[in-house]
Amino acid sequence: MEKQLLYEGKAKRIYTYPEDDRYFIQEFKDDATAFNGLKKEQIKNKGVINNNISSALFEYLKKNGIDTHFKKQLSDTEMLVKKVEIVKVEVVCRNIAAGSLVKKFGFTEGKELKKPIIEYYYKSDEAGDPLFTKQHILALGLADEKELKRIKKLTLKINELLKSFFLKRKIKLVDFKLEFGRDSEGKIILADEISPDTCRFWDSETNKKLDKDRFRFDLGDVEGAYEEMLGRITNGKSVKE
Ligand code: C5P
Repeated sequence: MEKQLLYEGKAKRIYTYPEDDRYFIQEFKDDATAFNGLKKEQIKNKGVINNNISSALFEYLKKNGIDTHFKKQLSDTEMLVKKVEIVKVEVVCRNIAAGSLVKKFGFTEGKELKKPIIEYYYKSDEAGDPLFTKQHILALGLADEKELKRIKKLTLKINELLKSFFLKRKIKLVDFKLEFGRDSEGKIILADEISPDTCRFWDSETNKKLDKDRFRFDLGDVEGAYEEMLGRITNGKSVKE
């Protein structure tokens, strides 16, 4: 039986996995979009790089007690993931002011935050991914109180694990976006991807941006930055720490 395309997003496709219906195939594309799809281009090798980076980071998180949808890498651009129902909330965690914290809230770029900020955005292209409070999420029934509590706890734990992982590789984890899903038992687990598309990474010595901001703001050498991140993640210390 052939795999069937179930969903195509801006950066990934989801297919059925005919060999075992407990899983999906998640395929990473080279397509890059920014500013709600207004800016669109291809970044050479992005699919391969992001699949490799996400696989390595999911492995690391799994080894450190985080439940994720990641099962195994299938090919250069594909990973096998547990079937989940995606919670329609994008969870952003910030350690250093950048991006919309600067543009919308007037923070100074680069300011280290005394405490991480967690924000929720409604995952809806039609609505333009608006900033949501817990009340909005509960009112729409996107998640319940117990699920939100687990999402927040997991996000803070993931932040601590990723911060120390990247610090060892001379990278500051500025901010990142996570998505969660419900597995077959209704348990909330980490889903989607963790890559330079969904995180801000700055070199800890030079503050050079090594993430999608190079594409968003035409800073040049986007592919080089993604490759640099893959190198630091996989050739640095063992990922199996
Ligand atoms: O743009 P903003 O500052 O709100 O982004 C915060 C973090 O979330 C950044 O790391 C960005 O790459 C990520 N993000 C994302 N997908 C979105 C919005 C933001 O991965 N739709």
